[in-house]
Amino acid sequence: MSKKQKTESQQPPPWYASGLKFKCTGCGACCTGSGRVWLNEQEIYNIADLLKQDVSHLVEEAIERREGRWTLKENPQNGDCYFLSEQRCTIYQARPQQCQGFPWWPSTLKDQVSWDEAKRVCEGIDHLDAEHFSLNQINEQLKLELESRKLWKR
Ligand code: SF4
Repeated sequence: MSKKQKTESQQPPPWYASGLKFKCTGCGACCTGSGRVWLNEQEIYNIADLLKQDVSHLVEEAIERREGRWTLKENPQNGDCYFLSEQRCTIYQARPQQCQGFPWWPSTLKDQVSWDEAKRVCEGIDHLDAEHFSLNQINEQLKLELESRKLWKR
């Protein structure tokens, strides 16, 4: 066993080792109020394809650069996501990984307190009809999220 493998196997299991419960109800609460949605270039093309829009037009209308990254614009009145309409996501099939990956974010999975804080916003966390996600499933989701985040700064 390599030194690295040994170190990893000696790490204590995460606090969510027995799994977590979640099911998105589509309530739209995570898309309301200010909170940045970061995305990479491929995701911008995906949205343009879905909306059958020219990419430069889409960027002008709905996307901006902040902190060296691409981000969806927010409604200036209330901070809601630009693509939220009547509590529904209008680009659902092409929504960025950040949206798809919630609540499997490093910040949400940091500890039980962070998970409970997210639960105050998201009714899908520990919902009565929620699915059980095993540790392996959570780690797969977390990996996808981390891979996607590497492409934010381009
Ligand atoms: S707040 Fe939770 S349940 Fe509601 S739309 Fe967002 S992820 Fe789904």
